[in-house]
Amino acid sequence: MTAHQKLYEGKAKILYTTEEPEVLLTHFKDDATAFNAQKRGQIVGKGEMNCAIATHLFKLLEAQGIGTHFIDRPAPNEMLVKRVTILLVEVVVRNIAAGSLCQQTGLPLGKVLPTPLVEFYYKNDALGDPLLTRDRLLLLELAKPEQVEQLTQQALCINRILTDFFQQCNITLVDFKLEFGLTSSQQLILADEISPDTCRLWNQAETDPNRRVMDKDRFRRDLGNVEEAYQQVLERVLATKIS
Ligand code: C5P
Repeated sequence: MTAHQKLYEGKAKILYTTEEPEVLLTHFKDDATAFNAQKRGQIVGKGEMNCAIATHLFKLLEAQGIGTHFIDRPAPNEMLVKRVTILLVEVVVRNIAAGSLCQQTGLPLGKVLPTPLVEFYYKNDALGDPLLTRDRLLLLELAKPEQVEQLTQQALCINRILTDFFQQCNITLVDFKLEFGLTSSQQLILADEISPDTCRLWNQAETDPNRRVMDKDRFRRDLGNVEEAYQQVLERVLATKIS
């Protein structure tokens, strides 16, 4: 399947139409952004690494009964996906306190949460992707009440599957962001990507709070060795079989 027309260019990916109306081609870029694109850079090889990691994780989730937009990976940095209308809601699941949760609540970095926390953020760059309450989400009609319930249950289920999987990689899944979309038949499926760009991943072999970081926080916080960290995640993910 070949790329036809550029449909949309985001910070990390470009979407193209294909000859099949319900199929899109995603090109994963090496570009990296953080802090609502105020910080920009490149992570060499990121496009291919994230595409490979996301492919493996989508296959894992599909094997466990989670509907995703994944169809195929025709090239190292390209993914064929089902066309969906993306909900303007970012679903974040947290197992351990980090990032904005610590900044906004004062919880100490690394505190294990008693139960996973599911949060919704408004996918709106102009507003800086603010945290939503359920009522605000409904007020803005970003999803229907039954879809909010479905998003929550799907996110928790995905968290269980990914936490177990990363555990086998000797990696702790601290938190991650998901995006969902609706197919033309109104089916809610997982879209976007799951990768070190969208997850916090800590190397269980390291205790030092900086050395353990294997994700985009290395880029955000100028910790160095960003490519090496993504490569390590890739190697461990690919070495772990989908059961
Ligand atoms: O910044 P914050 O702590 O809210 O991020 C929570 C998780 O969601 C992190 O894993 C981060 O990488 C991810 N995230 C993302 N895209 C965003 C915001 C957060 O992938 N726009």
